[in-house]
Amino acid sequence: MRSLIFLGILSLALARKTFFGDQVLTVHPKNEAQVQAIKNLDTKVDFWSPDSPAGISVGSSADIRIPSEILPAVKVALRRQKIEFEVMIEDVESLVGEQFKSAQGRGILDGTTAYDYEKYHTYDEINDWTNAIAAENPTMVQRTVLGQSTEGRDIPMLTLSSGQSASNPEILVDCGIHAREWVSPAFCQWFVRQLLDEPNNVRISEATYHIIPSINVDGYAYTWTNDRMWRKTRSKNGLCYGVDPNRNWDAGFGGEGSSSSSCAETYHGPYAESEPEVKAVADFMRANKDNVKLYVTYHSYGQMILYPYSYTYDLAANTDELDFYAVQGKNAIQSVHNKRYIYGPGAVTIYPAAGGSDDFAYDTGIKLSYTIELRDKGVYGFTLPESQIQATCEETDAFMQVMHNAVVSPTYQA
Ligand SMILES: [Zn+2]
Repeated sequence: MRSLIFLGILSLALARKTFFGDQVLTVHPKNEAQVQAIKNLDTKVDFWSPDSPAGISVGSSADIRIPSEILPAVKVALRRQKIEFEVMIEDVESLVGEQFKSAQGRGILDGTTAYDYEKYHTYDEINDWTNAIAAENPTMVQRTVLGQSTEGRDIPMLTLSSGQSASNPEILVDCGIHAREWVSPAFCQWFVRQLLDEPNNVRISEATYHIIPSINVDGYAYTWTNDRMWRKTRSKNGLCYGVDPNRNWDAGFGGEGSSSSSCAETYHGPYAESEPEVKAVADFMRANKDNVKLYVTYHSYGQMILYPYSYTYDLAANTDELDFYAVQGKNAIQSVHNKRYIYGPGAVTIYPAAGGSDDFAYDTGIKLSYTIELRDKGVYGFTLPESQIQATCEETDAFMQVMHNAVVSPTYQA
């Protein structure tokens, strides 16, 4: 048995892509020529933040993973253009390897008592966990399957409520739209446990929480087995695999900040909601828009609180309200571990990104809608160590508490 498990781990380890000698560079373009030079770097470079070359602008910095085989040439090109840069991550594989390490030797889930919320978990573990936590808390947790992914995986959702009143406001939280942003599903799992462990289950007695721990289940599974840096879904379109599931919503679909090239990391897909993962959640939003008062979608990284719009520079009708809670939320986050978040409308604060879930939720009628970019701000990026999961979740919970108080307030009108 032991050797079988070992073989399983070995084959997993051998199958996945490695990142030995890859570096993440932070570049600082000072003029338009330097921006262009960065956009024209080898097509094999991987934009971490911003998530595509389109988001690069004068005076802002960008984190880019450079595969080892082109690293010397890229550094020469940057120096030739006099583009300032520093090394953010010396060796990507060493940090990726750390993230996989604690998964080795984990057995089959036997209830949630021993479930470690400060570790990253595979899709199968998360799915088993949703079943277990619902079975253990039959009066407070209901598990539903929103739909199936392209590769046939279930997309589970947990609905938490206690002593429910039918008039309680509902809150929708999702994680893991982008596959490689591992701290996001980690938060959704931690947050479910937090709501259940709370004395008197205060929050779930005042509001009904719908929590989707991982939307992009195929992409997430693929980050564990094949490519830790995979971002998109796993549908096949033209030459390449994957649609950016945060460009595939019917909100300014196909507009600025999304790509029509199927090989691009921000490919919007052949049509809005072409991805079954997106359609499943969009259908849920449409069906529940009158009761859902708050939508929060979790990404990483960059430490940001963004609200509509991202598909246009126009401001949302209730911008003052969205901004008011963003400021409160940012302050609440900072009060926990002194992490600073920036905030504002997506397009204005970072760059336009058409077809995103927060804009779709908002236009569908959910008037409080936020995209959160979790830790960090360019130290580990997607390779955030497991040792930071706990603190990340604690400060994020403070944000959720602010938003909870807003929507359950008797004077709140949405
Ligand atoms: Zn993301």
